[in-house]
Amino acid sequence: MFSLLKQSPKFTLTNQNYFRNFSNKTYDAIIVGAGSIGVPTSFQLQESGLKVLVIDQKASPGQGDNKCAIGGIRATHGNDSKILACIRSLEVFSTWEEKHGHNIEWLKGGYSFPCYREKEENDLKSLLPLQQGYGMKIDYISAQDIQELIPGINPKGLRGGTWSPDDGSASPMLSSFAFYKYAKELGVDFKFKEKVIRILKNENNKVVGVKTVKDTYSAPIVIDAAGSWSPQLMSTVGINIDLVPDSHEAAITEPTEKFFTPMVVDLRPGKGSKNVYFYQNGFGQLILCITPDPPIKGTNRQETSSFLPMISKRVISLMPRLKNLRYRRTWRGVYPMTPDGAPIMGWNKELKGLYMATGMCGQGFMCGPGLAQTIEHDINGNLNKDDKIILEFTNPYREYKGMEKIK
Ligand SMILES: Cc1cc2nc3c(=O)[nH]c(=O)nc-3n(C[C@H](O)[C@H](O)[C@H](O)COP(=O)(O)OP(=O)(O)OC[C@H]3O[C@@H](n4cnc5c(N)ncnc54)[C@H](O)[C@@H]3O)c2cc1C
Repeated sequence: MFSLLKQSPKFTLTNQNYFRNFSNKTYDAIIVGAGSIGVPTSFQLQESGLKVLVIDQKASPGQGDNKCAIGGIRATHGNDSKILACIRSLEVFSTWEEKHGHNIEWLKGGYSFPCYREKEENDLKSLLPLQQGYGMKIDYISAQDIQELIPGINPKGLRGGTWSPDDGSASPMLSSFAFYKYAKELGVDFKFKEKVIRILKNENNKVVGVKTVKDTYSAPIVIDAAGSWSPQLMSTVGINIDLVPDSHEAAITEPTEKFFTPMVVDLRPGKGSKNVYFYQNGFGQLILCITPDPPIKGTNRQETSSFLPMISKRVISLMPRLKNLRYRRTWRGVYPMTPDGAPIMGWNKELKGLYMATGMCGQGFMCGPGLAQTIEHDINGNLNKDDKIILEFTNPYREYKGMEKIK
């Protein structure tokens, strides 16, 4: 068992009623949130020998912002920490079906960032030594190669672009359900439709459990995997975190014959937006997303009428042959956004036993399984060299300045 558990003092709660029916409600760790981070963390911790409970206010796993993700997964990031985490994630997603038998619609379609301006070309080229240094297949290819990779892409002003064939995509809903099924098989307990209304602590300022709308559960460790709801959860123990949610919209089209494989990311800014990105899933449907500029702060999950005209204009100017495709559905979700775009992950210093695994911004789905491994190592006191690099970047007490070059 891990150090914190060994050291944990006998509970000295003033209100002993908290622990009626003590034994079946006592865990080694409680995870608040069955989302992109919480579910993979649960099986990782249970595999290491801990007794784990996951609690979510929704009716089933992955129903928070996880289900709003469009499913992009890449390891070709602009810093060591995310590269290391997502190399692990790619390994988990790409081998899941083979190892566990659940189809998560993993598609090794790659990522491509076509370039029309010197700025993006220079930014992307400057990251190649770092990415290739980790053994990743990624290169800057010619305009002609990009046209072959993405048939119908606007050739006017196209300078070339990056191509990383080992990146890909998976279904966030199927993935979280598959991770959940595996976690259940291992013995993780899940409670759904149960909102955590308070994190409980004792007089030594140490976590002792959580109170939900229905019950009370005890554990010496509580993990905040509540995503964009984290500020409310943290406020129950008087902790402020640097997380400001912002809204993002996405869309899916009718299916068409499959004619390109990569996630295409156009980094150029447009009117009211930063980058736009889309790919064709295994059924031939296009799944599209855009980053609003300025950001739309808040937790509004209501679709807007301004999104489709904005994204259509940009996507059609990039790939005119898409102009006759019809949309099937749009949806809107929230990024749990931090000021520097990096996650908040590590032990909280103000409350012993509280572990933070939140602030995943726009990449929580792809980072989930990789970061879950670091969380497990941290909680069990087994950090390796890569974990330490990851945690330096996600340190909750960092300065929160700067922003990754390619987001
Ligand atoms: C339009 C859009 C597209 C995106 N595309 C991608 C993409 O392609 N790739 C990618 O990697 N990421 C993408 N993302 C980002 C990704 O969805 C998030 O980063 C990720 O889901 C965050 O994971 P999480 O586990 O922190 O939060 P969530 O998945 O939201 O999980 C948090 C869970 O905690 C629960 N919860 C919160 N508070 C409580 C409480 N008090 N009691 C009980 N339960 C509670 C919630 O119900 C929720 O289920 C996208 C997001 C959006 C909106």
